[in-house]
Amino acid sequence: MGKLESIKIRFLGGVREVGRSAVVLNSEHSGVLLDYGVQVDRDPDFPLHIPPKDLDGIILTHAHLDHSGGIPIFYFRSKLPLYSTELTLRLSKILINDFLKLAGYYLPYEHPELEAMVDNGIFVEYGETFQVGKFRVKFLEAGHIPGSAQLLVEVDGKKIVYTSDLNVLETRLLKGADLDYGEISAIILESTYAVEDHPDRLEMEKLFVGRVREVVEAGGTVLVPAFSVGRSQEVLCVLEAHGFEYSVFMDGMALEVNEIMLQHPLYFRDYALLRRALEKARWITQWRERREAVRQPCVIVSPAGMLKGGAAAFYVEKVAKEKRNAIFLVSYQIPGTPGRVLLEQRKIYSNGKLKPVEAEVEKFSFSSHSGSKELKTLLKTLQGNPVVYTVHGEDESCQALARWVEEELGFKAYAPKPGEIFEL
Ligand SMILES: [Zn+2]
Ligand SMILES: [Zn+2]
Repeated sequence: MGKLESIKIRFLGGVREVGRSAVVLNSEHSGVLLDYGVQVDRDPDFPLHIPPKDLDGIILTHAHLDHSGGIPIFYFRSKLPLYSTELTLRLSKILINDFLKLAGYYLPYEHPELEAMVDNGIFVEYGETFQVGKFRVKFLEAGHIPGSAQLLVEVDGKKIVYTSDLNVLETRLLKGADLDYGEISAIILESTYAVEDHPDRLEMEKLFVGRVREVVEAGGTVLVPAFSVGRSQEVLCVLEAHGFEYSVFMDGMALEVNEIMLQHPLYFRDYALLRRALEKARWITQWRERREAVRQPCVIVSPAGMLKGGAAAFYVEKVAKEKRNAIFLVSYQIPGTPGRVLLEQRKIYSNGKLKPVEAEVEKFSFSSHSGSKELKTLLKTLQGNPVVYTVHGEDESCQALARWVEEELGFKAYAPKPGEIFEL
C-alpha cells in the first residue's frame, strides 16, 4: 500500500475504425478487458490477442457484434467472469448464434464456447457497482441499444469512463445516456459521428411517418431494412407514437429479440409504447406469409439493415419492381454493401446482376450514436482535467475529435492506434 500504481490502458482494436472494439486496463497484476468484438465488414477480423490468464474478468457493454463477437474465444478453458446487463447477455447469445450460422467456417470458436461464455455471465444493473480484481466498476445507461451500458472504472484513486457506443439524446425506445460521471481522470469516447451532425429527431420522425403514409395510401408497400436489435423496434415505436394506422409486418430474428425485450421492461423509455407497437405488428415466420405481405399496401420491417442477407434480401427484389412501392433505409450504409449500392445507384443485385430499381429509395437517419454536437457538449461539461482517447470511428473522425479537444478544451487527447499503450 502507499504509493499509487500507474494504470495502463491498452487498445486492442476498434481504434481508427468501427468494429472489433477491445480495451484492456491494467494495474499491477490485475487486468480487466472491456469488450472484445469482431470486425464483420470483411472476413471476420478480431482484436489483438490477450491471454485469459492476464485477466480478472471481462466486461461487455452491449450486444452488438463489434463489441461482443470475439468474447467466446476466451471460453475454451478459462472460467473468467463476464459482467453485463442481463438483457445484453441474452441478446448477445442470439446475435453470436446467428453469426456462427453465417460465418461458422471462418470463426475460431463454436457453440460450446458460446455456451461457456453465457454460463459465466454475471448480471449487473445500471447504477450498480462491483469489483473485478483491483477495479471498481459502475454501469451507467448508454442510450445506444436496449441493455447498453457505459463503464465508470475506479482504480488507484483514478476514475476512467469508457462510453462504448452512446446516444446522449433520448429516442422513442430508450432514455438518453447517463452523463453523471463526476470528476474523472480519463475518458475513452466513441467517435462514430465526430464530424457529422444528425438532423432533428422529431422532424425526421414526422417526415418518415408522413412518407410511409403517402406510399401505403397510394397502394404501395414500404420495405424498411433494419437491424433486429434496436433499430427494428425503434421504427415500430416511431410509427406507433405518430398514430400510424396501417398494417406493419416484422420479419427476421427480430421476433425472438422482441420476446426477450418484452421480458425486461426497465430498460425502456416507454415500455407501454413498445408493448403496443410490438403487439400491433404482425410477425412473419413463413415463406407463404412473406409472399403475401409484399402483395399488399403495408410496411415491412426486416433485417438485414444493409440488405446483406436476411429476409430483406428477398423483399427488396419484389418491392423494387413497382413504382408505387418504396424502400426506406434507416441505418448507416457501409460502402460496398448492397444497401449503399441501392442508395447511390438505385440498383439492386438480382441473381448476381445489378438491376435498376423502380420503387422510390430514400434515407432517414435514425442513429443510435451521438452526433458531433452532442459529443462536443459532453466533452465541454466534463469535470476534472481528463485525458481523452477518441475511439470507434473512422481514422479522420478520431483524429479530428482529438485535435478539437486539444485546441478547444486544452485537455490531452489521443486517437490511439491498435496495440498502443498509454499510462495514466
Ligand atoms: Zn453498438
Ligand atoms: Zn460499436
